[in-house]
Amino acid sequence: MFQSRKLVIATMHGKEAVMAPLLEKELGVQCIICPELNTDRFGMFSGEVKRDREPLETARMKCYAAMDAVGCDLAVASEGSFGPHPIYFFAQADDEIVLLVDRKHGIEIWARELSTQTNFNGKEVKSSEELLDFVQASSFPSHAVILRESSSGADCMHKGIITEERLHEAFNELMQRFGAAYVETDMRAMHNPTRMNVIEQATSKLIGKILSVCPSCAWPGFDVTDRKSGLPCGDCGMPTQSTLSHIYNCASCGFSRELFHPKGKETEEPRYCDYCNP
Ligand SMILES: [Zn+2]
Ligand SMILES: [Zn+2]
Repeated sequence: MFQSRKLVIATMHGKEAVMAPLLEKELGVQCIICPELNTDRFGMFSGEVKRDREPLETARMKCYAAMDAVGCDLAVASEGSFGPHPIYFFAQADDEIVLLVDRKHGIEIWARELSTQTNFNGKEVKSSEELLDFVQASSFPSHAVILRESSSGADCMHKGIITEERLHEAFNELMQRFGAAYVETDMRAMHNPTRMNVIEQATSKLIGKILSVCPSCAWPGFDVTDRKSGLPCGDCGMPTQSTLSHIYNCASCGFSRELFHPKGKETEEPRYCDYCNP
């Protein structure tokens, strides 16, 4: 279905470096980029353009804009979000969504990688020492930082800083003009190798989903659409909240399959049982 087709990667931040090799090897596509595509108009981490849509919707808009710009019918885009991890809330997380749109066949398949591997951070700094402490903890200079007058200020913003010289110049300018400086990690993919790794993992996940085909009609993206709880307790046999099965559904022909014990466990430990351990 994808062999030898042109696939546009909707990025202006160098994501093709990790995405193209995987997509070309696994799907047989021919990856191109669209140099004139301005994905910043769909939102920027640094806030000059607000990111007010759902990440999946933003990725979809990037895909369509890129397909229109280069005149092809197959695209991939990714969209990252950063903030406290939804479960391990003491840790910061990088939440990457990667979406494939195949306009020719009316297919959309997406995958998500939620990782605590991120240097995402920001803070107001009052001295060069504080500034250096921050950048040293942020994998600088292999990872760039941004300096500006405040966490939301955009009057004086220095992005993509990767040398100590520029770091100090920008800091001194901000202190002179505003008497304040805010430093943060630059999360644009080409300035952040850690994020690039997470995008690569998300892309691998996406490919795994694409290559999962319907056993009935061979449509790509045969994936888990629902889960059932009720894995029996290993002691009393009563159903627990843990997952008993995953339901797979074909988006094309409606074929459905229930896969029991997806985690390879047929019973749950009694400590997770509401009867044995209420
Ligand atoms: Zn029990
Ligand atoms: Zn099917």
